[in-house]
Amino acid sequence: MLAEQTLILIVEDEPAIIELLNFTLKQANWNPVSVNSAEDAWQFLQRRTPELILLDWMLPQQSGIELLARLRADRRHKALPVIMLTAKTMEEDKVAGLDTGADDYITKPFSPRELTSRINALLRRKLPEHAQTVMKLGALSLDPATRVVSLNGVPLEMGQSEVSLLKFLMAHPEKVFSRSQLLDKVWGDHAAIEERTVDVHVLRLRKALGEAGDMVKTVRGIGYMISLKP
Ligand code: CA
Repeated sequence: MLAEQTLILIVEDEPAIIELLNFTLKQANWNPVSVNSAEDAWQFLQRRTPELILLDWMLPQQSGIELLARLRADRRHKALPVIMLTAKTMEEDKVAGLDTGADDYITKPFSPRELTSRINALLRRKLPEHAQTVMKLGALSLDPATRVVSLNGVPLEMGQSEVSLLKFLMAHPEKVFSRSQLLDKVWGDHAAIEERTVDVHVLRLRKALGEAGDMVKTVRGIGYMISLKP
């Protein structure tokens, strides 16, 4: 099983907005889960770590901003990408949200398109392998939505594991990853596969890439990277 499902936690108490958010996120290939209160969000975060949180400001009991402060003070969650959702348009509220550590801010009502592009922008900055926008590196391109990899515009044939591996590498060009990091990031923590399986997939990926195969470099004693350098 591949680990690239992108979990987005929605913390919102208005059913109509939850429905709109769920629909929009699924359309964009993300995997939304929603909770109705800050306390439920906190409970959820003890079990699972989402890639991003959409956090409503006005919640029953504890507010979104209080939950955000709690997250930022927590070692495990301080770097979690958070977009605040709010009906507030007051400048001081916006500043308070950003000061507390929100990465971005969306004012209701918002269009699905605006939401998707804000999420993509934040993911590209923080977790680029989860963004749903076409990735390009040299003559190579990869469309996360269709999972089509092209070289000079010509689609290439490759297995799903190779697409996932390439997507992760292309999201972090010029960075070296160990086999165990790649296993964790591409196949997930609980993958019942061995580190040398990564080598097998790298070989298959290079073969599938044809003349671009040497972009996938072996860094001796460390692992693998993708690079445009010869
Ligand atoms: Ca609300």
